[in-house]
Amino acid sequence: MAYASVYPLVTARAVARPFTYEVEEEVDVGAIVDVRFGGRRARGVVVGLAPGPPPGIETAPVDGVVGRLPRPLLELALWLADYYGSTPARALALIAPPCKERKRHPRTRRVPPSERHALPGEAEPLELTPSQRAATARLVAGGGPYLLHGATGSGKTEVYLQACAAMLARGRGAIMLVPEIALTPQAAGRVRARFGDRVAILHSGLGEAERRDERERIARGEARIVVGARSAVFAPVDRLGLIVVDEEHDPSYKQESDPRYDARTVAAKRAALEGAVAVFGSATPRPESWATLERIELGGRVGGRLPPVSVVDLRREAGYPLSAPLLAELRRLADEGGKAILLLNRRGVAPALHCRACGSTIRCPSCDVSLVLHGDAALRCHHCGHGVAAPATCPRCGSAELARLGAGTQRLERELARAVPELERIRLDADTAARPDELAAALRRFAAAERAVLLGTQMVAKGHHFAGVALAAVVDADTGLGLPDFRAEERTFQLLTQLAGRSGRDAPGRVLVQTFQPDARPIACAARHDVARFLDEELDRRRALAYPPFSHVVAVVVAGPELAPALRALEELRAGLPGAELLGPAPLLRLRGRYRARLVAKTDRPRAVATRAARLLAAAAPAMRRAGLTAVVDVDPQA
Ligand SMILES: [Zn+2]
Ligand SMILES: [Zn+2]
Repeated sequence: MAYASVYPLVTARAVARPFTYEVEEEVDVGAIVDVRFGGRRARGVVVGLAPGPPPGIETAPVDGVVGRLPRPLLELALWLADYYGSTPARALALIAPPCKERKRHPRTRRVPPSERHALPGEAEPLELTPSQRAATARLVAGGGPYLLHGATGSGKTEVYLQACAAMLARGRGAIMLVPEIALTPQAAGRVRARFGDRVAILHSGLGEAERRDERERIARGEARIVVGARSAVFAPVDRLGLIVVDEEHDPSYKQESDPRYDARTVAAKRAALEGAVAVFGSATPRPESWATLERIELGGRVGGRLPPVSVVDLRREAGYPLSAPLLAELRRLADEGGKAILLLNRRGVAPALHCRACGSTIRCPSCDVSLVLHGDAALRCHHCGHGVAAPATCPRCGSAELARLGAGTQRLERELARAVPELERIRLDADTAARPDELAAALRRFAAAERAVLLGTQMVAKGHHFAGVALAAVVDADTGLGLPDFRAEERTFQLLTQLAGRSGRDAPGRVLVQTFQPDARPIACAARHDVARFLDEELDRRRALAYPPFSHVVAVVVAGPELAPALRALEELRAGLPGAELLGPAPLLRLRGRYRARLVAKTDRPRAVATRAARLLAAAAPAMRRAGLTAVVDVDPQA
């Protein structure tokens, strides 16, 4: 008999500590156990063992051992809980996902997700470029973490594949992370074409049973290479040798629910714990990575140049969303054949309905945002999903003069149908491609088409790579610039440069950027493909303002049925956080009927501040619960 310290996997902050249970002698640290906890059954993870119970504690036996976690992953989870101001139980749940009882009757063999969600890959090139060879050699030699910087089309994926092959040859495994599910079909196709059944796929679009099957193949060592979205960073790959974070600038690597981990930071930590190499690849790296990682330059596009970019000044053009220069380019494709990708980073028909008589905009009753007009004449809230039929008259003054402000992807689709009906339209946004199979089907259609426009939100700018794309256009480059976020300029630059990289890979391509602010720094730099200049200037600006990477930001957000108690709770928290530079608390937008307020700390010791904040929140948890308040700690928030 031994005594085990067990974290029951429950979410409450108030019980975020280990409890002692009796276990058999052979049970080890990392065991997943069934326990009785607070009168119900729960899973728990053993984090320590002792020959005797702590004095004065009455212990109960565990109900059984149901699995075990690899040591490095256990260590990773406990670090993560601390670093992100979460609880050990919530972090452990990430690496020990709940498993429902398996049904006993034999299942028909499903097509594995790596096959179903994969687009066809391409063959291995006969020869690597000298810079690809040099990059591969540096990765395989160890060290890092590395930033692999190279323009779109410079052959980063081939470097990843070569490095994976070298790791496999040494008996080590690899994880390749791609931004959310939008990119998995293409990435999975390329990796599968090279490594076949040794590849597993993990992302949130899989069913529970599929996810479990894939995890089991990984745990048994059948699949040694894992491709997936951010949660794949926790895949139970044994003897891990390489973690690739592709398109490392993508904000979807940040999880937006507790624990609010950043898969990029976790990847670097996991690589350090397991002696693996971490490589972060992008054509448009984050300023953080540019300033802090060991850089490997891959250079320009393989066998071609980046396409010229024309900026269309919307202040001088009448047509919106389709200006005369954009229309002319589209007509040329309709006549001569070819494909275009159009980015408009807003869903729906119009982002707002505005009354010309009284000046009011129709808003969501539960959120401080305007309702978006959709094609079925419904108004929808993009935060909470609230929907109503669009009124014919203003709900406030009764006037019939309701104007549709701006344009969304659905309106763009209609305008294209009217202006260039010869081009097939394939729309890609959260309304049309919510599931990975819908997305893969849409991308396949576009790949097969001869005259077509792929239009949609930022999804269309992400890493896809198709033959015959002669035109890439940004319909409204200004959508992101007005946001009150210190990353707004970085995001705009990345989006424009990424989209520009979709054009002209195998044919002369053109890029059009429509904007009301042609002189804005991100737009001007993107038009010249000048990544280094943008990043250097952006780093100067961040240094002056003490923003990341020159400090870390730790935010605490409290939400509740009223604003005043949320602000009060943060005032109390503020008093308990001496030493950090603190901003706020200040109110945020109300969402889903909940008032929210935020306290922000700028610090060079994020882990200490987050851990301290988490302790204070745990102590305040019962009182906050009575007041209906919830709190999250967010280290280096992305929005
Ligand atoms: Zn009105
Ligand atoms: Zn809402």
